[in-house]
Amino acid sequence: MTRPCHQNVVSTTPSPPQTVFLGIDVGGTNVKLGLIEDGGQIIAQHAVPTPPLKTPERVIEYALSFANEETTSHQRIGGVGLAIPGILDSEEMVLREVVNLPGWIDRPLLRLLSDQCDTPAMVVNDANAAAFAEHSRRGLGDRSLALVTLGTGIGCGVVIGGRPFSGDHGCAGELGHIAIRFGDDALPCTCGSRGHLETYAGAGGVLARLKLAYATNPKHRIPASLQSPLASPKDIADEAIKGDTICLDVIDETAIHVGSAIGMLGQTIDPAVVLLGGAMTFGGKQSSTGIRFLEKVRATVRETTLVQVGGNLIVDFASLGNDAGIVGAALVAKQAAADACFNNS
Ligand SMILES: [Zn+2]
Repeated sequence: MTRPCHQNVVSTTPSPPQTVFLGIDVGGTNVKLGLIEDGGQIIAQHAVPTPPLKTPERVIEYALSFANEETTSHQRIGGVGLAIPGILDSEEMVLREVVNLPGWIDRPLLRLLSDQCDTPAMVVNDANAAAFAEHSRRGLGDRSLALVTLGTGIGCGVVIGGRPFSGDHGCAGELGHIAIRFGDDALPCTCGSRGHLETYAGAGGVLARLKLAYATNPKHRIPASLQSPLASPKDIADEAIKGDTICLDVIDETAIHVGSAIGMLGQTIDPAVVLLGGAMTFGGKQSSTGIRFLEKVRATVRETTLVQVGGNLIVDFASLGNDAGIVGAALVAKQAAADACFNNS
């Protein structure tokens, strides 16, 4: 006999409680929490600094306390999802490498989560969680999507066949470490290898190329805003809008680097959609430089791929921003709950 999924719903109850899902997005600076409705809408959210909580156990305890306080008597928590940065061993659900979360390495995260909550639980890489949230927002069903996050580093989350895909070593979609330059002239990457995309198109690489371009064009004075050690890609976009040709050239060159890497990704997994997110989209869809950047990325993807891939691949800006992690973590929990329901039937 098929068992009902909502076993705590009594038959005499006039209407069943609303099922909500808890998303926990852990970063080195903050832990973000969100209660999410079935359709992915956020109904409550909260952020707390990570360092005082330190351990996975205390983060999970804090998150469950938040969820219990925010859940009304007409709601039930249907699942809990935990999104974390770094390289996640998806078989053992253990973090193998991470920056700024030293107490989390080699801890059995899924077991710790499952031990503290009585609902289905799941652990997911944060880039994959964000990609899953964008995938859901676009209603892509079984189709595939990649979310490329451009910032100090370059991350990428992948959803294949309607599910987050992490690969056998937790490294699927590590686009920042695809080699785009070879030989002795290729610049060293933070990972120890050379010529990787992140070295050229990460924020540090972009600013370094910009300063080199000014240094080799002595007639072209570097704007004051770009002389600061705190200069950002947004400052480059602002100067480009004012007509600085060196800034425009560097934005175009960055788009070619990013576009060629997306072309490789496109040829490899042939996704329906690739989205660009993060701080380094040069103003995004709100600015002319952001649109110029996007168009150049699109053109490069078309130029470097088969027409069946580049001609059909949608490349656009991401839409969920900083909320993507909690939404994606909660949606992964929802999927885990559906899987548990299916397996019990
Ligand atoms: Zn690298």
